[in-house]
Amino acid sequence: MRLPLLAANWKMNKTIGDGLAFAGAFIPEMLNVMGEKAGQGPGSPVWPELLICPPFTAIPALAAVLSGYPVGVGAQDVFWQEKGAFTGEVSTAMLKDAGCSYVIVGHSERRHVMGETDEMARKKVRAVLGSGMKPILCVGETIEQREKGDTYRVCETMTREGLGEVRGDEIPRAVIAYEPVWAIGTGKEARPEDARDVIRHIRGTVDSMFGSGASEGMRVLYGGSVKSANIRAFMGYPEIDGALVGGASLDPIEFAKLVLEVRKGRPEA
Ligand code: PEP
Repeated sequence: MRLPLLAANWKMNKTIGDGLAFAGAFIPEMLNVMGEKAGQGPGSPVWPELLICPPFTAIPALAAVLSGYPVGVGAQDVFWQEKGAFTGEVSTAMLKDAGCSYVIVGHSERRHVMGETDEMARKKVRAVLGSGMKPILCVGETIEQREKGDTYRVCETMTREGLGEVRGDEIPRAVIAYEPVWAIGTGKEARPEDARDVIRHIRGTVDSMFGSGASEGMRVLYGGSVKSANIRAFMGYPEIDGALVGGASLDPIEFAKLVLEVRKGRPEA
């Protein structure tokens, strides 16, 4: 069974001090929800896997304060080159050094505000996997694409392009987040059964690329206006392995409530 992943995307929010204040409030709530043994380091029970992706500046401080707790730290972006004259960019080695284990790649805000392409996403996914970290590749349609009936085609293309340089044995380390653009930050989440259907199509795409059953080892998340009040409707479908959460992850109490809601669905509960 795949371990669900609940990943917080803070976007361009929170200074180092704000991030540390979040951790100070979140850790006791999280331990309460995850069980007291969750703070006992490697081997302690973890369900679901938890990840926080702060802005670059807050990564080292968050990684330090969260070490010893079952909460990983990830980045929201990366550049694919190893080093050199790329002003403003950050490499995989720098992110690992700062304490990251995951990197979000191709988020819709980067595609639609910064003009990132599928080719850039592909190079970033390749670089992240090569570094030993795990990519969270975001795919999803705009409202215009949805209204034209293009949702499946768009998500299939983004999946094929984004995973275009991945080897079959790396698929279990890759994560896809299906994030319909019209649902991000709008308060209007997708209908859970629609998200499930798109995610099934994404899994079918992965199987057609890497062989029948390949997608069984890969986690596919839903993202778009997820909060504690609606997460269980998504997690009720076995195809959906967790969520990428923006707005609702900024509040430590609400994020802990999200963890609690996901935990209610754990097999032995
Ligand atoms: C996101 O940032 O990936 C996201 C899904 O945001 P929100 O939860 O605010 O819609």
